[in-house]
Amino acid sequence: MKKTILIVANEMEQSQELEQELIEKVEASTLEFAKPHTAPDYIITIGGDGTLLSAFHHYQEYLDKSHFIGIHTGHLGFYTDWRPHELDELIHELEQSDGTSISYPLIAIELTDTNDRKLELLALNECTFRSRTGTLVIDVSINDYFLETFRGDGLCLSTPTGSTGLNKSLGGAIIHPRVEALQLTEMAGINNRVYRSVTSPMIVPNDEWIELEFDRSKGKPLIQVDHLYFDHIDLKSVRAQVAKESIHFARFRHTHFWDRVENAFLGNKQDYTIKKL
Ligand code: NAP
Repeated sequence: MKKTILIVANEMEQSQELEQELIEKVEASTLEFAKPHTAPDYIITIGGDGTLLSAFHHYQEYLDKSHFIGIHTGHLGFYTDWRPHELDELIHELEQSDGTSISYPLIAIELTDTNDRKLELLALNECTFRSRTGTLVIDVSINDYFLETFRGDGLCLSTPTGSTGLNKSLGGAIIHPRVEALQLTEMAGINNRVYRSVTSPMIVPNDEWIELEFDRSKGKPLIQVDHLYFDHIDLKSVRAQVAKESIHFARFRHTHFWDRVENAFLGNKQDYTIKKL
């Protein structure tokens, strides 16, 4: 059976041109395009990490069957390995591939509104709850154990691959994606003689869960899951845990995680290392 492909490109001119080039190369290969509404073997994104986040949410129903591949038209990303001039090599690897993949953890989030309606979501980077006006007041429990009442601008729950995104800007730790964990970071928590919260980022293992209870009298939080906003939900509580599902990336070669970190945040090395598997 032929291996099937689906391509998602962002609006940038370079990404659009590269998409056309890739379409022609796929047509000239032993690969074929997936039929509409069927899970492809490979979802190839062209753009940045943001483009991969969009594809992840759009094609979430294919998570267990499809392998993602990111081509970056900007800088080396945390989800994007391939460079625009490597299309021939990519096609060759896809034709030869035995389906080897690497999987990264996701967060399963259950939102409950004030009418006890539930919405279940998956996050690839993070999920945040921010104040629109004033201070949010949130009771934080871990494994049904009440920990603290947080007061401040909001809270962020991030995955290991999301730990280099917003989490890092909030002072959270960078977590290697092989560590299956969930990280909780504060946004401008109030800490004085009257109010106390832990302050430090907290890293929770995959068999534990975090619950957040919102004080409704203090306003409705703005919910963000990766690049998506959920504005209409009158949020009462949240339950979050490392998800049973994970995202799979095709693994033909390996960019060392710490090389990505160096490249993204320091940029002192001339080139990053790609090791063929
Ligand atoms: P966006 O404009 O699409 O992205 C903001 C920047 O974050 C882009 O440079 C993006 O890289 C980068 N990014 C995305 N995921 C990342 C990851 N896992 N590790 C390192 N960098 C990452 O913003 P958006 O649509 O509002 O939100 C999408 C994501 O961007 C969020 O999930 C969040 O993690 C991240 N973000 C970070 C900050 C911050 O650090 N203060 C602020 C807003 C959003 P590309 O250019 O490759 O797409």
